[in-house]
Amino acid sequence: GSADVEYDVVVLGGGPGGYSAAFAAADEGLKVAIIERYNTLGGVCLNVGCIPSKALLHNAAVIDEVRHLAANGIKYPEPELDIDMLRGYKEKVISKLTGGLAGMAKARKVDVIQGNGLFVGPNHIEVALTDSAQYEQAVETGEKKTVAFKNCIIAAGSRVMNLPFIPEDPRIIDSSGALELKEVPGKMLIIGGGIIGLEMGTVYSTLGTRLDVVEMMDGLMQGADRDLVKVWQKLNEYRFDNIMVNTKTVAVDAKEDGIYVTFEGENAPKEPLRYDAVLVAAGRAPNGKLIDAEKAGVAVTDRGFIEVDKQMRTNVPHIYAIGDIVGQPMLAHKAVHEGHVAAENCAGHKAYFDARVIPGVAYTAPEVAWVGVTETTAKAEGVKITKANFPWAASGRAIANGCDQGFTKLIFDAESGRIIGGGIVGPNGGDMIGEICLAIEMGCDATDIGKTIHPHPTLGETIGLAAEVALGTCTDLP
Ligand code: FAD
Repeated sequence: GSADVEYDVVVLGGGPGGYSAAFAAADEGLKVAIIERYNTLGGVCLNVGCIPSKALLHNAAVIDEVRHLAANGIKYPEPELDIDMLRGYKEKVISKLTGGLAGMAKARKVDVIQGNGLFVGPNHIEVALTDSAQYEQAVETGEKKTVAFKNCIIAAGSRVMNLPFIPEDPRIIDSSGALELKEVPGKMLIIGGGIIGLEMGTVYSTLGTRLDVVEMMDGLMQGADRDLVKVWQKLNEYRFDNIMVNTKTVAVDAKEDGIYVTFEGENAPKEPLRYDAVLVAAGRAPNGKLIDAEKAGVAVTDRGFIEVDKQMRTNVPHIYAIGDIVGQPMLAHKAVHEGHVAAENCAGHKAYFDARVIPGVAYTAPEVAWVGVTETTAKAEGVKITKANFPWAASGRAIANGCDQGFTKLIFDAESGRIIGGGIVGPNGGDMIGEICLAIEMGCDATDIGKTIHPHPTLGETIGLAAEVALGTCTDLP
């Protein structure tokens, strides 16, 4: 049908990439609409991802901390869980933020069109309007609306990847199911040893679930610096009965008395193991093949990704793509930055995505945070590096806080002396990694970081001290 309205920019998808792009474009004075099929903005991150997981992880971290206090002479009885209230807390956090986004859209006169959008041509999207009771639940009303655009930003994100051999059963959940927090199972298997699975595992374990984890690759938290993961694993072994790496899950059988899972691999258990629940966290798939992109002429890869240039343009110059749908790392902060670049280009400025590094964080207990070059990638790419470790056993604050097993690591380019990577394992590592990101973006060397006065006594100080290790001015280490 003919379009009701023509927009300067139509953003397909209301996640962190999409709403950031839409708000930035509106701030440039453009007429903007967001098409989102669910009834709230915020996408995966805000509704079923970053934010609800952190709301639960925060509570888990406090419980863990309180349990540790017993060793210092402060004893509490075991916490009593009101699971409905905890779920309610998480939902309150989400609605505060989604409500905020709705207000920000309104303030900028960004139209939010609720429905499933499909391209019908290079300048048109047809929207099948939806009713939605909550995120991940939408029913088409039967009404349709066509929107016309001068520029489009595809921000349709990604979805949970399903494994073909896994049956439907309420005891088998994905990350969204885990966040629903229906019950605390006795024994749970996590399929996939990545960040999402391990974060949710941390929550359930603290609430009382015994864990197993199975990972196809040779270690948990692929992508993170191996030294950091080693420390995390040592501190978390108590949560697990089995940590199975280099192991494949080959069959999942839902029986009345439990879910039976069969594994394959050198060290795999010979017999199937029984679980009360299984969390499938084996990765996320981009939504590129679900939006009829070909009708706009936009190329989509076999796996469903959309390729873009540094201006976030697809092969069709007035159509941009950002966020999870353009590739790894699938992280909200990457999506937001890409969204801003796309919006600026829509407004006629020349903007480029030229971040040197994108940090990654596992918000586990303790947190594992890393950025830039790791020893593994340096070796693979033949980059000559020097490294400096500062063990938290030498940090007064870490000792006082009872977290002296953590450490901070910096990686420098051996030739230029500039910092090109770093990592932290320890409480609040995710909050602290930003300083290392800034140092890399600014092209700092060890002197810049080591001679910057950090506040004492803090965990953040360990970044300055690691640089002093590199300079040779901090030598009395345990
Ligand atoms: P999405 O957030 O996926 O949003 C896309 C939106 O588009 C969705 O709302 C979808 O409904 C809508 N949409 C798609 N197709 C259509 C269509 N045809 N019509 C209408 N609407 C459509 N990242 C971090 O950086 N930090 C974290 O701590 C973190 N934790 C996570 C925890 C979990 C459990 C999960 C699952 C993810 C987590 N992530 C985290 C990843 C983060 O959520 C994503 O990287 C981020 O949401 C990607 O943003 P996006 O804008 O690309 O897309």
